[in-house]
Amino acid sequence: MEKYLRLLPAELKEVISYAQNISGQLEYRAYLVGGFVRDLILDVPNLDMDIVVEGDGLKFAEALCNCMDGKLTKHRRFGTATVILPNKIKIDVATARKETYAHPAALPVVSPGDIRDDLARRDFTINAMAINISSAGFGNFIDFFHGKDDLLLKRIRILHDLSFIDDPTRILRAIRFEQRYGLKIEPHTYSLLRQALKKGVLEKVDKQRIRDEMILTLKEREPVKYIKRISKLIGLSFFSPKLRPAQAKFLYLAKAKKEIAWFKKSFPKKRMLDAWLIYLMAMLKDADRAELLSLCRKFAFRMGETKRIQSYAHAFNKADTLLAKKDIAPSKVYQLLEPLSYEVIILIRALTRKKEVKMNIEDFFRVYNGTRIHVNGDDLKSLGIKPGPAFKNILIKLLYAKIDYQFKSKEEELAFVRTLSIKKWS
Ligand code: ATP
Repeated sequence: MEKYLRLLPAELKEVISYAQNISGQLEYRAYLVGGFVRDLILDVPNLDMDIVVEGDGLKFAEALCNCMDGKLTKHRRFGTATVILPNKIKIDVATARKETYAHPAALPVVSPGDIRDDLARRDFTINAMAINISSAGFGNFIDFFHGKDDLLLKRIRILHDLSFIDDPTRILRAIRFEQRYGLKIEPHTYSLLRQALKKGVLEKVDKQRIRDEMILTLKEREPVKYIKRISKLIGLSFFSPKLRPAQAKFLYLAKAKKEIAWFKKSFPKKRMLDAWLIYLMAMLKDADRAELLSLCRKFAFRMGETKRIQSYAHAFNKADTLLAKKDIAPSKVYQLLEPLSYEVIILIRALTRKKEVKMNIEDFFRVYNGTRIHVNGDDLKSLGIKPGPAFKNILIKLLYAKIDYQFKSKEEELAFVRTLSIKKWS
């Protein structure tokens, strides 16, 4: 495996070299594991490193962090830690552990173990390979479960027959890796997956873990393809009982994809979209408010996410009607769209059938959004207007007027303020 390691970018080789030194000093054995090894073999760039040590993982992470000037977050309960380096490389460090499951879909009971135990608790053979990066045995490849053969033969295989029962989220993970790397779930694994589904395991698992897997799926490069596969293989009712994999939903997802690409290309300087949230809202497009609220609660979506998911249902009809009016003033477009998140606006643009709505949204992003006025409270005072609630009203009127008339200078803004009935406020 040394030949693979030698081909890595310099900044990753540097981490490995520090890890090797620390493993020598602490007399622990250290290994690269999981997705990093899989992607190394596939020659897919990956800046998320997973290191497992036979020893105290927290101590190892601390030492690595100190010598690489990183930022350390410890997760004491799990004996793991994350080091983020200034160049954005992320290193997860864990103590090698053994896992047992008290009952199906429960969280595992964890105890210290060696590298074999640690690899045996993993989801698929392709994610259960390791490379020794300790001083003794540096570069040795560890592949108890023949993950490399599976990877080269493009197969997804679980490590033992109860794998999907122990952790049903692996069903979604299997689909994710299958679609991402063009692999195939091998027949025995596939039949165990189906058996687990028949037992209703996905309904039993902690909802927040399902949510996290769904978010990861929707963050993939081609999420539409993944959702199609999930709905074909297992349906979507595990996520929301009324979510039927109708053809229309895929059309919504495809339209959302097109619009996300348009936004990224047209407005590279605006903030990054949470594209996964747009896809999620598109999937839930036909759900009513009560259903949406119950889904957000059940899956414990964060407050900001819940608000955006909820606001779409409310905003679409209003925006779709008002923005279609030919003579709508720019300031009205602004008032309608400014309170909404970019994600909601993009989905409205994706799902409307009206050209005018699309154009008004484009104008909003291109021109009105982010309009700032130059006139401030001091300027109003010097015009003889007394401070008080009137200030806010004047400044809002000015903002709307600026959006409508596109004032080019502060002088033009002041001239507008003077046209307002100053007496009324003085
Ligand atoms: P990605 O490229 O999507 O980050 P990854 O393989 O690195 O893929 P992670 O979710 O970061 O995936 O997990 C890191 C490793 O932890 C996996 O490679 C796998 O070995 C193990 N793992 C993660 N989730 C599970 C699970 N549910 N069951 C067993 N092992 C898991």
